[in-house]
Amino acid sequence: MKGEEVTLEIESGMDVLEVNKQLAHKNMELLREHNVKAIDIMGSIGAGKTSLIEKLVQALKHKYRIAVFKGDLTTTIDAERIGRHGVKVVTINTGLECHLDANVVARAVERISLQDIDLLIIENVGNLICPAEFPLGTEKRVVVVSVTEGPYMVVKHPFTFMTADVTVINKKDLAEIMKVDTEQLKKQAKNIKPNMKVAVTNALTGEGVEELIKALEL
Ligand code: MG
Ligand code: ZN
Repeated sequence: MKGEEVTLEIESGMDVLEVNKQLAHKNMELLREHNVKAIDIMGSIGAGKTSLIEKLVQALKHKYRIAVFKGDLTTTIDAERIGRHGVKVVTINTGLECHLDANVVARAVERISLQDIDLLIIENVGNLICPAEFPLGTEKRVVVVSVTEGPYMVVKHPFTFMTADVTVINKKDLAEIMKVDTEQLKKQAKNIKPNMKVAVTNALTGEGVEELIKALEL
């Protein structure tokens, strides 16, 4: 089945962020109607979003019917990685756009049948800045930082962390080499948002992924 039509006419002078917010709200309603839980995964290029999604899919694919939307500038490398696990993947090539928005997600939703899935995982474009301003209509937002990005990724992007429900601190195995204190990053995330849930992971081995699943209430 095609998703319900969710395009709003954009009249000149209408605020882009406001339009996005309305579309995100429609996405959320549509997903809820079909009992689909949706998660938006944000984070810089190389933070480990795709690896984490692979591990989430492996851990959850027997419990939920899963679809993955993959925001990417031009390639389908990640989609192929995730597709190997036998779930439906829709690549959203964004061209020059450095974030997904609610409209492109609505378009992608039209390409899957919502009654055939229970869980939708959306990998946003690798970028810690503007995705924060564009909610997609997901129930939860996750932000992934890795210790290899240094000790300031959290404090430098407070707005992104404010919009997230769960923070993942990834590549924990490299923390010592990088001289980055994961406890410190955790504290910083909770300073920005007191009810933030935090999971410390190694997405390559799957360590901490159970913690993330618990944080996501899945
Ligand atoms: Mg990726
Ligand atoms: Zn952007």
